[in-house]
Amino acid sequence: MAEEGVKATYVTPPYLTITSPTHFTLLTGRYIENHGVIHNMWFNTTTQERKQYYMAQFVDDYWDNGSLPIWITAQRQGLKTGSLHFPGTAATYQKERVQVSMVEPPFYNYSNETDWRQNVDKVMGAWFKAQDLDFVSLYFGEPDATGHKYGPDSPERRNAVQMVDRTVGFIREAAKRYDLADHLNIIITADHGMATVLKGPGVKQIILSKIPGFSFKDIKFILVDYGPTALLLPKEGMLEKVYNTLKGAHPNLHVYKKEDMPARLHYSNHPRILPIILYADSGYLINGLLPVQNNKGEHGFDNQALEMKPFFRAVGPDFQKNLLVGPFETVNVYPLMCHLLGIKPEINDGSLDITRHLLVTSGNLCNPKESYDMSLVIGLATVGVLVAVFVTVSTCHIYRRHKAKPRSKQ
Ligand SMILES: [Zn+2]
Repeated sequence: MAEEGVKATYVTPPYLTITSPTHFTLLTGRYIENHGVIHNMWFNTTTQERKQYYMAQFVDDYWDNGSLPIWITAQRQGLKTGSLHFPGTAATYQKERVQVSMVEPPFYNYSNETDWRQNVDKVMGAWFKAQDLDFVSLYFGEPDATGHKYGPDSPERRNAVQMVDRTVGFIREAAKRYDLADHLNIIITADHGMATVLKGPGVKQIILSKIPGFSFKDIKFILVDYGPTALLLPKEGMLEKVYNTLKGAHPNLHVYKKEDMPARLHYSNHPRILPIILYADSGYLINGLLPVQNNKGEHGFDNQALEMKPFFRAVGPDFQKNLLVGPFETVNVYPLMCHLLGIKPEINDGSLDITRHLLVTSGNLCNPKESYDMSLVIGLATVGVLVAVFVTVSTCHIYRRHKAKPRSKQ
């Protein structure tokens, strides 16, 4: 696929490097503090109510928070879109939903390769070919689940990566089988990476209840025991006490007041982000009362950590062939997709200038012949990085170039 398309050294996801927030960045081109899907969990600090990843998919006003995902924007500009299992699919945005969708049932097994193949066939055959859709996003939940359970360097994880690799082949084969390959652009990337959780007697774990002076009685609401991050809302008048108690309490624990979060993380300026943010160095988890987290692999770490950076591949008539490009942030995938679909993007934090060189031409996208004329090769990647990043795939999305036929913009 790299020989026939574009390969990036790696891409940088937004912080916080977890599923729903990073996917919504792919769909909107906005940093997490700007699109507001700040965590996989939905929560209400007044009622103490929480919803885990799956149930949070159905809370419309959590997702419909001012930023429109690309499906809705494309539909408003006359295109037809679909989405299969992609985070954010179940929600309604400004009274609109993605036109064709498949949302997984509760307790769905995201790891069944037979299901993956059936889903690819559904997207290619029923959606693109029969229903003439212009854009589809498609999500596969591996090797995320296996990486959590067994760790990123495990044989189980390698098997899951091979399953993803076979599926990428199946996607491309299906595009040919349904006679779509000449006018289908395919982008495959992931939402985040995976790091090995450090364990054993030499590792000083982060357990908030063991920090001298820290008391849960000072806290009104806390989101903790969720990988390497915790969000805290202290009770009134307790912010300074809680902050000063935690700051410097553990060498691998970073403690920030919301307004002091490093600007490069873009995880500060949203009312849903709680007043104190804790994050741990790569490999460390943040526990509340007891060390209850058993995963051997985890994500959610600083997006500068190389283990958090996913791969990026793109192939199709509008992409260069055999082109290796340097890293870029995933906020820039959205303007690239809008350009290829021929739609006007919403306000976003990315820029087409960052990814324009991936394309065969920045002008006329409707002449597939041009794709055979360009085959620049730019070597920027180091193989070790690419391998490390590639094994962290958990998402695929596919999308289709806009067709040459004119469409109504009404
Ligand atoms: Zn995960």
